[in-house]
Amino acid sequence: MTDVIHLLPDHVANQIAAGEVVQRPASVIKELLENSIDAGAGQIKVIIKEAGKTLIQVIDDGKGMSLTDARLCFERHATSKIHAAEDLFSLKTKGFRGEALASIAAIAHVELKSRQEDDEVGTCIKIEGSEVTSQEPVVTPVGTSICVKNLFYNIPARRNFLKSDSVETRHIIDEFQRVALAHPAIQFSLFHNGSEMFQLPGSNYRQRIVNIFGGKTNEKLVPVEEDTEIVKIHGFVGKPEFAKRSRGEQFFFVNDRFIKSPYLNHAVVAAFEGLLKDKAYPSYFLYLEVDPKSIDINIHPTKTEIKFDDEHALYSILRSSIKHSLGQFNVAPVLDFERDHTFDTPYELNKKEVTAPKIEVDRSFNPFKENSGGSRGSSSGYRKENTGGSWESLYSGLQQKESGASSSELQHVEFESDEVTGNLFGSSAEKETGNTTFQLNKKYIVSTLKSGILVIDQHRAHTRILYEELLKSITVTAAVSQQLLFPLMLQFNSQEMSLLKESKESLEHTGFVFSKFGKNSVEITGIPTLISESEVAILLEQLLSDLENEVPESSFSQADVLAKSLAKGMAVKSGTVLNNLEQQNILNSLFACKESTLTPYNKPVFITLTVDELDKKFM
Ligand code: ADP
Ligand code: MG
Repeated sequence: MTDVIHLLPDHVANQIAAGEVVQRPASVIKELLENSIDAGAGQIKVIIKEAGKTLIQVIDDGKGMSLTDARLCFERHATSKIHAAEDLFSLKTKGFRGEALASIAAIAHVELKSRQEDDEVGTCIKIEGSEVTSQEPVVTPVGTSICVKNLFYNIPARRNFLKSDSVETRHIIDEFQRVALAHPAIQFSLFHNGSEMFQLPGSNYRQRIVNIFGGKTNEKLVPVEEDTEIVKIHGFVGKPEFAKRSRGEQFFFVNDRFIKSPYLNHAVVAAFEGLLKDKAYPSYFLYLEVDPKSIDINIHPTKTEIKFDDEHALYSILRSSIKHSLGQFNVAPVLDFERDHTFDTPYELNKKEVTAPKIEVDRSFNPFKENSGGSRGSSSGYRKENTGGSWESLYSGLQQKESGASSSELQHVEFESDEVTGNLFGSSAEKETGNTTFQLNKKYIVSTLKSGILVIDQHRAHTRILYEELLKSITVTAAVSQQLLFPLMLQFNSQEMSLLKESKESLEHTGFVFSKFGKNSVEITGIPTLISESEVAILLEQLLSDLENEVPESSFSQADVLAKSLAKGMAVKSGTVLNNLEQQNILNSLFACKESTLTPYNKPVFITLTVDELDKKFM
């Protein structure tokens, strides 16, 4: 028998270890930032090119490394932070495994420059795929600068696995923000492809949050403070009325380390009970300090989960301290009994002044003209220009063998062709406003079919119609826009601004005109014809949160996310009264769509009830 086991050469072992530590450029940023913090830096500058794929550089003014240390730090298990296993239980540093630099050096071209305060000159080391290629003295400021170039140059499979620049940049920004939020006293900056993305001066916790998430954040923060034997908590929660539609701004830090904890998240959400609208996520920035002995920190470097000794106690302390803060700052309702919501003014009306009802007569209405203005005007968007001939698509839409909901029934469904299709845009005004459709509960459009009835969800139908129109204007022919009398200024934080910049062109195709793209604001002089000025801010905020959540991978899916999100926001809502013409326009445009059975979110748009089914109900 021959022996088959052998030890892997160091560079292979390092590459394997690297796979665990470095998944993407953002992991390198995290490791380098943590090293700079451990080195006591007061200023840290991050420079990246092409989402970190070609260059990541982190420059700090920390304590630097000696000549030998600079050489040694790239060895595996080379660390200055622990000496014995017991040290793990009193850990005050971020790193301790001595793995990061060895791993990074195994899969990239690395250049390190470092100098300690007492040394005249520093040292510069170049290393490629774990091989030191040069080491020489260099003139360099006190501190350390590490350049990581061509990440994964020697592991093509990994390199190909990286996502688009916008996705990788987003991961980097996430890591950067987490570290910056945990260390407000340190000055951080981030530059991408030569332009400044963040410039965060050393400050306090509140100011740091505001500097990252934008000036408007300040008024939204409610401080939380609690001091117990098990845990010290400080930080902020967002006021419930500003809760986001995405989980974007939820941060837990334990002993200055960002962590994820669904369990503690639950505690926060529980504290907000009854204060949040459906599908709203509260923002929070919570800093927990616990005895290092009481947590299991010996977790994988890239993992952000953590184990606590006394989770239950932590849960209730967290929940009650947030509840207390919300109450103290007059955010929670004082009386906590069930109210009868039927007494409430409908949401959309409660800010409006009460006016006497009046009758509006639309003098320009000409039923004989296809696009004559109805009471909502053409900007309401219910009217599709190309209405002529779209009745035919009523059939084609229905005859397609859709995989979607209710497709099987559809094959047998036929419109009462004489009644419906003949008069949709026919010559008879009486018929056009006749009773072929009616609205149910301000939510559904009901129409008759030859063999039954058709019930259309008005919001979903309009979403589908707008989605297809928007997708066309983004990808094929740009839509027209309406000029604003006065430019609209909107504030966004840096991350939102970078998302907005990525989608600028597509948005312009839908009708937006951006006159200025500042650092934290945009000036808008034109908007799509389908929306009103007052809706712009909400629409864009929703769009940004959708883009954040759905991280588009390609330009097509970016257009898709955009069209979906805008369509959802622009579409006529449930609860809106539609006149007969509007109802019929929705009906027509819907069946002129490529896909009429499903919304872009794959929800059914309409249902049918056949005479047979009705008959059965009467048996
Ligand atoms: P760890 O952080 O787990 O100790 P690393 O591989 O990240 O392992 O770093 C190895 C060692 O290199 C650290 O323990 C530290 O002594 C030194 N080092 C790394 N980065 C810096 C830096 N920016 N400034 C000073 N020393 C550093
Ligand atoms: Mg480290």
